Amino acid sequence: MLFTQTFIPTLREVPADAVIASHRLMFRSGMLRKLANGLFAYLPLGLRSFRKVEALVREEMNAIGALEIKPTVVVPGELWKESGRWETMGEAMLRVKNRLGGDFVLSPTAEEAVTSLVRDALASYRQLPLTLYQINTKYRDEIRPRYGVMRGREFIMKDAYSYHTDEASLDETYRAMGAAYRRIFKRCGLSVIPVRADAGAMGGSDSEEFMVESAVGDNTLILCRDCEYAANVEKASCKPEAVSAAPSRASAVPALEPIHTPAVKTIEQLCAFLKTDAHRFIKTLIYRARNVALDLSGTPGAALLEKRKSSPEAPEVYPEAFFAVAIRGDLEVNEVKLAAVLKASEVSLAADAEVERLTAAPLGFAGPVGLTRIPLVADLMVAAIQDGITGALAADTHYVHVVFGRDFVPWLSADLRTVVSGDSCILCGGELYEKKGNELGHIFKLGYKYTRSMQVSYLDESGQTHIPLMGSYGIGIDRTLASVIEEHHDDEGIIWPMTVAPYQVIIIPITYAGPVKALADTLAADLEQSRIDVLLDDRNERPGVKFKDADLMGIPYRVVVGEKNLARDVPVVEVKRRGEASVRLVEVSKVEAELSRLVYKELSC
Ligand code: ATP
Ligand code: MG
Repeated sequence: MLFTQTFIPTLREVPADAVIASHRLMFRSGMLRKLANGLFAYLPLGLRSFRKVEALVREEMNAIGALEIKPTVVVPGELWKESGRWETMGEAMLRVKNRLGGDFVLSPTAEEAVTSLVRDALASYRQLPLTLYQINTKYRDEIRPRYGVMRGREFIMKDAYSYHTDEASLDETYRAMGAAYRRIFKRCGLSVIPVRADAGAMGGSDSEEFMVESAVGDNTLILCRDCEYAANVEKASCKPEAVSAAPSRASAVPALEPIHTPAVKTIEQLCAFLKTDAHRFIKTLIYRARNVALDLSGTPGAALLEKRKSSPEAPEVYPEAFFAVAIRGDLEVNEVKLAAVLKASEVSLAADAEVERLTAAPLGFAGPVGLTRIPLVADLMVAAIQDGITGALAADTHYVHVVFGRDFVPWLSADLRTVVSGDSCILCGGELYEKKGNELGHIFKLGYKYTRSMQVSYLDESGQTHIPLMGSYGIGIDRTLASVIEEHHDDEGIIWPMTVAPYQVIIIPITYAGPVKALADTLAADLEQSRIDVLLDDRNERPGVKFKDADLMGIPYRVVVGEKNLARDVPVVEVKRRGEASVRLVEVSKVEAELSRLVYKELSC
């Protein structure tokens, strides 16, 4: 391809909001332009790399037997009502009406669309297992699109969905996907960190996210210094701290005692007032949970709660329920874990007025003792507090000498704390530390969540009806591409890995005329014949400008053809690998073979 025949509008200036390298370099190198906030257009150079990432993902999906389909991007709202997600997806899902007033959705993901296709076509166990995938447009009305295509509103996702007769079969596909994802990222030159992840509110069990480290990452990863443990903080657990070796029996602690604590509301104030530390304090927070799929019958206040089913097959949920959550004073509640424990679509701190109503006390005095209006959920560490302090559900009053099991019994105890650097690894006891990361891919076992609510079934050997198990597996193509640039660049520009480079070789004639032009043309044609992607910079520009642009675009091999070198006894050209300092002289008669060798060597890595 001749440079003058393509459209690579490089930029010297970049938009002010381009704060990360990939965003800046995709603009500067002429790969990308912005149409509106979160909406981007790939120009020819960008699209070439984009298609290579897609092709690589497609190859790995096909290799594990996944079958490509192409559903529509616009999907009937009806399907989302069947799964129950019409209510729970919130504002991120863009909904549109057609001319007849029908509800439609611009796919943010496609569990519903693909499951509806499978429902229509699935009859027998003989058709299972089945894995379908697409590489297609997704739309999410992100609140804050940023970092260019890392978090856009419209993007391309490879999303796969698998259907199975049993757990063993789901396991097998889940593992094959995990292995395919590792290969995909490796081939793209990416160092990913697979982490344990939250599997969502209903049905899901295993879930793994593929993260890349990033200073501006939206995720916090918890890693162990001594073993392989790696988890998203949303999911991370740690070893509970050792409780003192000889637990004092409840009888050894004096009776519960209310104390007057005027104007003491925060834990810091209370610690100063009582000259103690936050470890002894049982902090109690009131949470509002939405779409709770846990059975609350028999818990305080449950009789008054509304229950609803979004479809005949969907589980019964409480659209809104409140909970008191008790946790040690120095720890924080992990809301993702809390939502998972409550099987809720979402949890958030209750509004002040709700807190006062449900605790029958002014703000700042909630506590687990004597709470009668809502169920109490306690973090596992609460049970280890031997002689606790807590709000007394009355103005300016706290209780001291609070004993778990004696003075209060939670309805549920679970691991709810947010793990932080310095906590101990749940596997080996080693020290945990944090890293920021971005999620490139996510695989998870969904169980029966969609297949049950959408009434998918098949017949087994004896003619009995069953519901299939399901898994779901996504990779963001745009984010993967941007992450490659994040990991492979320097001050001058991108340094593409061969596998996803827009062009693999750039030929720069010092002046595009005479024997130099003749050789450049022949070399380009020969390399293209060997299926190597070549850009020939035929512009009438100074060599310095061409070199700068080649560095910016990050094309792996640069061949400089100059008159002087061609006039030698043994004519040569200059060959340089982007990212390396040394320049080699290669004989003209050998250059085509040598470049083919170099390019194919890197492709096969
Ligand atoms: P995030 O937590 O970053 O919002 P997610 O958990 O919503 O991601 P999934 O629903 O698991 O993402 O989607 C699968 C993949 O799609 C992600 O791993 C990511 O690579 C990509 N992706 C998700 N949202 C965006 C976006 N707004 N822009 C670009 N890629 C995205
Ligand atoms: Mg995810």
